[in-house]
Amino acid sequence: MNAPDRSLKHGLFLADTHEVINVSRELVDFNLYGQDTALQEAVKREGAAFAHDELLAFGQHIGTADHLDLGVQANRFGPELDTHDRFGHRVDLVRFHPAYHALMRTSIENGLHSSPWTHPGPGAHVARAARFYLHSQVDAGHGCPITMTFAAVPSLRTTPALAALWEPKVTARIYDPRNVPDAHKAGLTIGMAMTEKQGGSDVRANTTRAHPLGAEGPGQAYELVGHKYFVSAPMCDAFLVLAQTRGGLSCFLLPRWRPDGSKNPLQVLRLKRKMGNVSNASSETELRGALAWMVGDEGRGVRTIIEMVAMTRFDCMIGSSAGQRAAVAQALHHCTLRSAFGKLLQQQPLMRNVLADLVLEHEGSLALTMRMARAIDQRTDPHEDALVRLVTAVGKYWICKRTPHHAYEAMECIGGSGVMEDSPFPRLFRESPVNAIWEGSGNVQCLDVLRAMHKTPAVVQAFFDELAKARGGNAALDRWMGALQAEFKDLADIEYRARDVVDRMALAIQAALLVQHAPAAVADGFCASRLGSAGGGHRNYGTLPRGVDCAAIIERATPRC
Ligand SMILES: Cc1cc2nc3c(=O)[nH]c(=O)nc-3n(C[C@H](O)[C@H](O)[C@H](O)COP(=O)(O)OP(=O)(O)OC[C@H]3O[C@@H](n4cnc5c(N)ncnc54)[C@H](O)[C@@H]3O)c2cc1C
Repeated sequence: MNAPDRSLKHGLFLADTHEVINVSRELVDFNLYGQDTALQEAVKREGAAFAHDELLAFGQHIGTADHLDLGVQANRFGPELDTHDRFGHRVDLVRFHPAYHALMRTSIENGLHSSPWTHPGPGAHVARAARFYLHSQVDAGHGCPITMTFAAVPSLRTTPALAALWEPKVTARIYDPRNVPDAHKAGLTIGMAMTEKQGGSDVRANTTRAHPLGAEGPGQAYELVGHKYFVSAPMCDAFLVLAQTRGGLSCFLLPRWRPDGSKNPLQVLRLKRKMGNVSNASSETELRGALAWMVGDEGRGVRTIIEMVAMTRFDCMIGSSAGQRAAVAQALHHCTLRSAFGKLLQQQPLMRNVLADLVLEHEGSLALTMRMARAIDQRTDPHEDALVRLVTAVGKYWICKRTPHHAYEAMECIGGSGVMEDSPFPRLFRESPVNAIWEGSGNVQCLDVLRAMHKTPAVVQAFFDELAKARGGNAALDRWMGALQAEFKDLADIEYRARDVVDRMALAIQAALLVQHAPAAVADGFCASRLGSAGGGHRNYGTLPRGVDCAAIIERATPRC
């Protein structure tokens, strides 16, 4: 009889239990722009071919393992609030992980907060949208202050004296996170405070009051008393705030510090405990006589801040398109490396159906987003202006609302490991509903579509003119357009039916863009699955009908690293 082997007990060697095989690897060290064919085509098509080389360099830089890890770290170690210092002085200081600051610096130094204002011209918004879309894939949360800073400029410009003082530093490519008065900084960020406890969508219910310190009206100084229930990025250097005056709801620019160097009493009560959007701080605040200057005309606060909101809504389209790209890129990457039942997942027919369907969703989102970027670039053209007015709301509603299910389905492609916190999917999934809810939730967007149609009927004609560019390109789309036109003739119960109508509009314009510009496999697959004989609309992902060229759709979208 052999003597028992005691070597394990004595720790001389470890038994080999298994080899780690048939698993994926991190999707890192790849060019986020260079591997996104749909984006490259859109950038060229919509007028920003000039930015190709810069985007390629940017995509390479932010696709490195080190840079992608900044997004992980900034979300693992979220912000913390110190209301007071250790001696008891009020400080309202939010501390962020260094990764957050690195992300902010990259965005600001690359002009994601300002390039169309500092370098206007054909394609300026398209190029900036592409950069924002790329960096949102690294981390969505820091995009909030970047967007608000970018979006504040049109509102500031309604009061030239204030714009002259603030715009140069707001648009400067300098990130300075210090909690010091704006006079000591060369680069500033801007936030936005509208929402109160009793009403977010209905801002006219705001109770915060502005008391004039002397002369009243645009550019004049007031003190604000009240509260704001959601203030994201409270370390911004100033905020556009809504408050009531004798003349009605008005817009104000409120700095964190007063010009005399004392703290402006916008007091941060606590940080929100959010399910997603973790790297970004969102706070509850009270305004206890905070100094602010009126922006725009008295009583026209909504009109003034809507200039900003229009831009933030557009950025929600970009952000959710980016979320879809990040999710589907991970799913495609995984399925090229993992086998089950004797084949790579990407070769399993049913998985091909799911993956191709997820790609089609993203293709539609990106095509619409980039088309709207061009419309913003060309807003002096009445047709483009009408599209901005109507289709921003359509796109914000549809793309943002489609993203959570998309993120979940992409997660399922990974299987159980997709659910684990060390995979990218919990973050993508938790982020996915945010854009749909803030900056005007779904119903509010649909009602905005109706408002635009009612106030400016020409926008409807512009919309159908835009669709008509694709007429004859796909029979299902032609039928869809005809049915939609008939729908518009019957306005009974239109508020009740608004989501149904806007859904159809969104699918129509996405399909029209893809039919004109995307490869046949993508356009045909989109129309067959979204506008096809099954009654239209879209059911679960992975229900593409027979005949869709999944191989071509998947091949074009799969990142290689
Ligand atoms: C992470 C995060 C950060 C935020 N940061 C900021 C910030 O920095 N600054 C800021 O001002 N706000 C911020 N918000 C607030 C956000 O903009 C509001 O939550 C949003 O506008 C909705 O307002 P509400 O929460 O008061 O909901 P409500 O206005 O009460 O709406 C509730 C629901 O009712 C629906 N609804 C409203 N009116 C109608 C109607 N007439 N018909 C049918 N349905 C209707 C809405 O679509 C929504 O689904 C943030 C929100 C989140 C989640």
